[in-house]
Amino acid sequence: MAFTETVRQGFQKELEGIRASGLFKAERFIRSPQAADIEVEFPAGASPRKVINMCANNYLGFSSHPEVVKAAHAGLDARGYGMSSVRFICGTQDIHKELEARMTEFLGTEDTILFPSCMDANAGVFEAVLGERDVMISDRLVHASIIDGVRLCKAQRDIYQHCDMAHLASLLEKHAGRRLKVVITDGVFSMDGDCAPLDELERLCEAHGALLFVDDSHATGFIGRTGRGTPEKYGVRGKVDLITTTFGKALGGASGGCVSGRRELVEMCRQRARPYLFSNTIAPVVVAGVLRVLDMLTQSTERRDKLERNAAYWRKGLAEAGFILKEGDTPIVPVMLFNAKLSQDFSRDLFDEGVYAVGFFYPVVPPGTARIRTQISAGHETSHLDRALEAFVKVGRKHGILGKTKEELVGRYGA
Ligand SMILES: *Cc1c(COP(=O)(O)O)cnc(C)c1O
Repeated sequence: MAFTETVRQGFQKELEGIRASGLFKAERFIRSPQAADIEVEFPAGASPRKVINMCANNYLGFSSHPEVVKAAHAGLDARGYGMSSVRFICGTQDIHKELEARMTEFLGTEDTILFPSCMDANAGVFEAVLGERDVMISDRLVHASIIDGVRLCKAQRDIYQHCDMAHLASLLEKHAGRRLKVVITDGVFSMDGDCAPLDELERLCEAHGALLFVDDSHATGFIGRTGRGTPEKYGVRGKVDLITTTFGKALGGASGGCVSGRRELVEMCRQRARPYLFSNTIAPVVVAGVLRVLDMLTQSTERRDKLERNAAYWRKGLAEAGFILKEGDTPIVPVMLFNAKLSQDFSRDLFDEGVYAVGFFYPVVPPGTARIRTQISAGHETSHLDRALEAFVKVGRKHGILGKTKEELVGRYGA
């Protein structure tokens, strides 16, 4: 037995350390489908209670939409449950090709390849298209899955300060001699809810002969006038060389992701991307669900319009109540508390008031910037937002944070 008592105690000590630093992650058990109203068992064993969900990536409310569920049922009946194969052996159905074609059309690109998740898309894409003579230059705040993808690739790396175009320009100069230069950013940054200035990025890339790569996971389906994502918002549709995105957020929230962009780059992924070559195909039931979501998104902008109205309403309500928010115009609305413990206490009190929203603190966000990240959905009605605001105000009063400046909050609670 190699897992001796000493080895066990070593791990126990490490886990205790995580607990002691307040960083231990505990799950809350949801006893209902994902939606604006959910039933949550928390703490474990407690009787489930109804709360308003303010922290799902269910931006368009498709996660348990009756039309999506119906399409998924039909897909299950027509194409079965599992594929038991990777794509290139016997894991490609007609509907997988159909979804790739539909994403290509939706995103305005040349071709698309599906991955088991966007995490996998990001893990596979750089290694598949870049080599030692190339350089990847990424925004300091890109998603963890991009950081992992960059680590797996032999190309040289560099990092520019968050959305700092002057800094990026200097790095593009510095790496002028490289074969390929790729600038890598999130479209919408998940912790702050701000957008990368894709118009400026595109111009800069054009000027320096660099490719532009955008992870649009927090944008596809709802950012831009018709929900085509940040390239639409910034008028650079068709000019982004590679887009990765997820089906695990606005597009139904089940699972799966893709790489979409220049035909040859996508083809390189089909030849070389390891998660595509070595991990199972997306289940037909999920493919059928996403196809239905795309139908609805191309027929009408009603849901993304409602989301935009909801987000503006929520932002205005919080700001008028005297909370400090991160500026932005996406459905990600961070309520700044700065202190880690305060963010945890605040989240717990919100839950007692029937609102489910999670507090984030270091190392998930930079030290001294703890916050409650709220995420708005088209599945929210105004009544949900009003009730949630009432809870925020009540808890805000309890902790004496309404109408306070950052300095006052940090002065009282520390950062
Ligand atoms: C959520 C997210 C991912 C991961 O997507 P999955 O499909 O859940 O693996 C990747 N990149 C960004 C920017 C994300 O927000």
